[in-house]
Amino acid sequence: MRTIDKFKGCLVGGAAGDALGYAVEFKNENAIFAAYGPEGITKYANGRGLISDDTQMSMFTAAGLLLGAQRYLSGGFAGYPYYIALSYEDWYGTQTAEYPLKNTYVPLARMPEMFSRRAPGNTCLASLAHFHESHEYGTIENRINHSKGCGGVMRSAPVGLFFAGTAIPVWESDIIGAQSAAITHGHSLGWLPAALQAHIVRRLAEDDGETVPHAVEDAAKTVAELFPDIRHTAQMIARLKKAVDLAGNGNIDDLGAIHKLGEGFVGDEALAIAVFCALRHEDDMDAALKAAVNHGGDSDSTGALCGNILGAKLGYDAIPEHFKTNLELHDTLCSLAAQLCDAEVPENSYAVETERSEGTDTLPCATCRFRTIVTLPDGTALDSGRGSTCAAYPELKPLDVMTDCARCPKYVRE
Ligand SMILES: [Mg+2]
Repeated sequence: MRTIDKFKGCLVGGAAGDALGYAVEFKNENAIFAAYGPEGITKYANGRGLISDDTQMSMFTAAGLLLGAQRYLSGGFAGYPYYIALSYEDWYGTQTAEYPLKNTYVPLARMPEMFSRRAPGNTCLASLAHFHESHEYGTIENRINHSKGCGGVMRSAPVGLFFAGTAIPVWESDIIGAQSAAITHGHSLGWLPAALQAHIVRRLAEDDGETVPHAVEDAAKTVAELFPDIRHTAQMIARLKKAVDLAGNGNIDDLGAIHKLGEGFVGDEALAIAVFCALRHEDDMDAALKAAVNHGGDSDSTGALCGNILGAKLGYDAIPEHFKTNLELHDTLCSLAAQLCDAEVPENSYAVETERSEGTDTLPCATCRFRTIVTLPDGTALDSGRGSTCAAYPELKPLDVMTDCARCPKYVRE
């Protein structure tokens, strides 16, 4: 079941952790404790919760999923990762061009507030610059680089929310989580944690009785089964297990445990630190976020991930007032949460079957190298191997992006 309290809790909780951590993102531990006292930072710096790229990109993930659902209903659909990539292209525009942008895919990119630059990650910028030029984006099959930075996982929570309470199996939404990160991050430790985060968030958001320990265990089991042949799956799962063990170890304090998990600049460490803090302080958002940001690593991302998890568990009302007051874009986050909660999610999550084109009698797409079959709402299959227009559906025409593959172009019904 979907409840708005959990959806708002997840997005606002993530933004709160991001904003708390953003002030100390580039400070080492000595500098943090010297500046803010023995507790570290506990309230927004200067009374203003400025969000960073983590929250901005999470919002664009949400917008991309909503765009996908909308395109599905209007008759042409190329799989959620494609629409998420388009939405990220809009984010890229907000970070590299002046307001207003000429052409945008999602309404978020028409808000002047989204144009603030808050230390955007280089991997995301570089991968999306490439997408902007070529319309080629990374997937877990065709990896775009070797980056395992946490820029992929930090923005993945909305995938879990979007599919929460739907008939789509959780393993499918895990894959979409992984693909959403692989758009910019090619190393498996860049996208495996996004599958896990999407799974954890989804379980907590769709089931009121779900606990963080059980959601984490369930995520680890499913993702290990989904990607048994990926070289770093075992490493990812082991780091998660270490976070679980440390959370239950009463002899070690928060910071000591975080030191054993890493710094959070890479995906597996960031998720492990966030999970540790969420487990250690399962009923206390305030304590969890303080723990998640007061360390010398990637504080805004570990804060954002932890806030997403606990927000999905505890809901919006459990977030302390001081984290909601003066949180930048608070109302926009709540509105996005409502749109995700109310979204009509098509029952067929992919509605696109992809298969490698070798040995088939159809031509592969020059851009994504996949032969694609799009299933239209009436059940007719539109095969990209036949080119950009289909004999069965001549009124479906590619718009302005590309012409050779249903995975790549935008199709509209005229
Ligand atoms: Mg950031």
